[in-house]
Amino acid sequence: MYIDTHAHITADAFNADRNETIHRALNAGVEYIINPGTDLEDSRRAIELAEKHPAVYACVGYHPHEASKADDKSLMEIEELSRHPKVVGIGEIGLDFHYNFSPPDRQEAVFRDQIDLARRRNLPIVIHTREAMEPTLRIVQEAIAREDGKRTASVPEGNRHVAPRGVFHCFPGDVATAWKVIGMGFFISLPGIVTFKKGGNAVAVAAEISPEHLLLETDSPYLAPVPHRGKRNEPSFLPLIAERIAELQHLGVEDIGRATNYSVFHLFRLGSVGAPRITYKLKNSLYINLTIRCNADCVFCDRKGQAVIKGNNLRIEREPTAEEVIAEIGDPKRFDEVVFCGYGEPTIRLEEMKQIARWVKEQGGKTRLNTDGHGNIINKRNIIPELVGLIDAVSISLNATDPDQYGRLMRINGTVFFAAMLEFARDAVKNLPRVIMTVVDLEEVDKEKARRMAEEIGAEYYQRPFF
Ligand code: SF4
Ligand SMILES: [Zn+2]
Repeated sequence: MYIDTHAHITADAFNADRNETIHRALNAGVEYIINPGTDLEDSRRAIELAEKHPAVYACVGYHPHEASKADDKSLMEIEELSRHPKVVGIGEIGLDFHYNFSPPDRQEAVFRDQIDLARRRNLPIVIHTREAMEPTLRIVQEAIAREDGKRTASVPEGNRHVAPRGVFHCFPGDVATAWKVIGMGFFISLPGIVTFKKGGNAVAVAAEISPEHLLLETDSPYLAPVPHRGKRNEPSFLPLIAERIAELQHLGVEDIGRATNYSVFHLFRLGSVGAPRITYKLKNSLYINLTIRCNADCVFCDRKGQAVIKGNNLRIEREPTAEEVIAEIGDPKRFDEVVFCGYGEPTIRLEEMKQIARWVKEQGGKTRLNTDGHGNIINKRNIIPELVGLIDAVSISLNATDPDQYGRLMRINGTVFFAAMLEFARDAVKNLPRVIMTVVDLEEVDKEKARRMAEEIGAEYYQRPFF
């Protein structure tokens, strides 16, 4: 199931078959369609369409092309329309200096007014920006600074805990700009351009940015994906875009659907978060969510926040028994690996983990443990001998290159735990088939040094994306 977060079904291009278009989308697995408004009239039409079709939701606003038509009165009417229960955002708004159908200063003024309107209404914004990234970012940053005075515009880059503010639809920027936008609390949405041979920035962004930050859109009736390129676009083509993004991300298309749907829920309050999961599938591996408890409290961890990984809700209210997990695994040979992971430290539940791992091995499956490497301290004994024969690979979070940094990032006693983690890793290399040491791609961590440390220990090295 997918959500088309940007489709102009109200456009004239659909006059002949608007209802059929929506039904084709539903049959193709598109659960919801968000129809943005481009001016007052179109915003009204978007709401009318949403009233008629349970699957359609609306945004209201003045597109930058139409900015010269907006005045105080019409913007007040937009604000009134935004109170409709099927209105989920203000959009599309922004700047388009490619065509300049409205004078740039008028575009800027109307953009600012509509950002303020969205703040008053506590609604996310849907941004259109073309050949205007720099002024668009400036205006948004100024708005953020106005909004929470103290924090100014310098929201820490890559801070995923910023409340979502909106989406940059049909994102035209490069990967670095995408991360900047994400750090400001925005999602990135990519249309059918990702399927084009010369997809440029869109393809690079679709490959590099983790799916937690992406939304799906068709931008119908424009930008039809391959093989419909050049023809009228429609929401039923959305799966083609999802498949291409999945291919670029080396993920399953269902992972992309789940992750982006969760983002839609997070941003537009549309759909649902899904029940907490004790197992979840990513690519061809099955992950086991044994616990959400941890002895550490890493600054980059979302354990106490959303606790969602690629759309999988890991906030379990009760820890599962080994039997419950085994029942969910089914035949472990279906998976490349069964991985003990999640927003918690699996060795806190060592006995259950061993029981499950033993069963997986007996069935001919493969196992991996993702750990902070503190299992010996947690269990007050050397646990490595107990893992021999049960765990095929262990992935240890190295996280930092010295005890101070380690303690700071994980908010624990760096001296004690850094040494314990390294000791655990050395012992694991001697006794287990495969050991990987990982760091999160944070600027302050010297990745080359981390790589050398891992190699000296005899482990493989892997750099995880921040998010
Ligand atoms: S060790 Fe892992 S689960 Fe624990 S706080 Fe750090 S990142 Fe989160
Ligand atoms: Zn649009």
